Amino acid sequence: MKQKKKLNLNRQPMPKQPPHIRRSNFKEVAHGYTPELAVAEAVRCLQCKKPFCVQGCPVEINIPGFIERIAEKDFAGAIRVLKQKNCLPAVCGRVCPQEEQCEQLCILDKKGAPVAIGRLERFAAEWEAEQGKVEMPKIHAPTGKKVAVIGSGPAGVTVAGDLVVLGHDVTVYEALHEAGGVLTYGIPEFRLPKAVVRREIDYLQKLGVKLILNFVVGKTKTIEQLLDKYDAIFIGTGAGLPWFMDIPGENLNGIYSANEYLTRMNLMGGFNYPRSATPIKRHKKIATVGGGNVAMDCARTALRLGAEKSYIIYRRSEKELPARLEETENAMEEGVVFNFLTLPTKLIGDENGWLKEIECLRMELGEPDDSGRRRPVPVEGSEFTIPMDACIVAIGNSPNPIIPDSTPELEVGRWGNIVADEKTGKTSIDRVWAGGDIVTGAATVILAMGAGRVAARSMHEFLTS
Ligand code: FAD
Repeated sequence: MKQKKKLNLNRQPMPKQPPHIRRSNFKEVAHGYTPELAVAEAVRCLQCKKPFCVQGCPVEINIPGFIERIAEKDFAGAIRVLKQKNCLPAVCGRVCPQEEQCEQLCILDKKGAPVAIGRLERFAAEWEAEQGKVEMPKIHAPTGKKVAVIGSGPAGVTVAGDLVVLGHDVTVYEALHEAGGVLTYGIPEFRLPKAVVRREIDYLQKLGVKLILNFVVGKTKTIEQLLDKYDAIFIGTGAGLPWFMDIPGENLNGIYSANEYLTRMNLMGGFNYPRSATPIKRHKKIATVGGGNVAMDCARTALRLGAEKSYIIYRRSEKELPARLEETENAMEEGVVFNFLTLPTKLIGDENGWLKEIECLRMELGEPDDSGRRRPVPVEGSEFTIPMDACIVAIGNSPNPIIPDSTPELEVGRWGNIVADEKTGKTSIDRVWAGGDIVTGAATVILAMGAGRVAARSMHEFLTS
């Protein structure tokens, strides 16, 4: 009989670049666990008989299983267990909101020190990459069925990976010139190095997935045309249509959507000008409106581009910030200035049409709204202005409209999202499935992967029945 383990509340800290150094470079902030730190962290896991952490993982990773292998220094075994359920462990280990999922349900969380599941996942993935050879899964015999996956973000990548292993002939169509979706064009290098994403895409191609870039489905070819060539189609085109505030002055120079700002940086290498072709203006005082992960990424990118002051303007209080706690703390440590309970009402320009200042209102919190968070209410007569050179709007995104607009038979919801069955991912069109942000609206990497897994299961059933 296994002996009951003693509680160890000594969670191993993640080694990081110090804030004053990292705020001026684009290198990854967190260094990752060494093997010694990983083993010290893994032995804390209580190996619960009924592991609640697994229930908190949208792709049902055998969490105690992979952690036990790390504790036994069987790192190859750990990555094998992880890859049974997750084709992007290096990505998820870095960006998943574990504090709201698996780690929140860890028994040790009640004592304030959950096992660092995400850090251990990242460790196992990095260990495998350092070995220089990746273990390949067994590929089933060819089924002769052809599948098109539209969009190469986490949802599309999961469907492609699952179906190619099952013997289907899979082609991914991607509108941009690099694959990876938000992982490539959105999340900055200092949080998710692009080499990590490229490595995961390479792995997919090694499994036999074909990748066609610079191909906008709905423009280059329609869904209807692709249905003539493929037995089944998965749409994972994400939520990349930015919202604006709809206030005066939003057309001034110096106003960016978060999408434009981050895409210029990440996909076009704007920070590397003149070595890259797409420059980005280096603003001195820059405000980011919003409080999610996207807003934190923009505000921290602005610092690294040399801004003297980078502000977050958020209409609720610190308690309601939707960004991951770790990323908010990182932003604060790096010197981002937070203006809570503040609402921009007007963007004011100079004589040349460049942003000069932002007019704002002070807010206070009222009764909870539909989201359960307290509603921000303007304080009358509290208008004030802040001098500013640039403003990034990071208040949310809608699903990409190109495919819904060019596919009249496709049922679309109130927010422009594709309507798909939650249990199968099936859409209103025969042989067409959908999942990820295009269905749910902007959400998370792991939820998009979970939706991809559900759809892949249903597609495989259809293709083999
Ligand atoms: P996407 O990743 O958006 O991929 C969709 C792909 O489809 C894109 O590559 C797009 O170019 C392509 N496409 C679109 N239209 C077409 C077309 N017509 N034809 C062909 N291709 C097309 N989530 C987290 O879990 N943790 C985080 O820390 C986090 N940080 C984020 C930071 C930023 C800046 C952003 C923008 C998002 C962040 N998210 C985070 C959210 C997460 O990245 C998304 O929820 C996730 O990427 C959604 O995956 P997806 O596959 O549905 O879509």
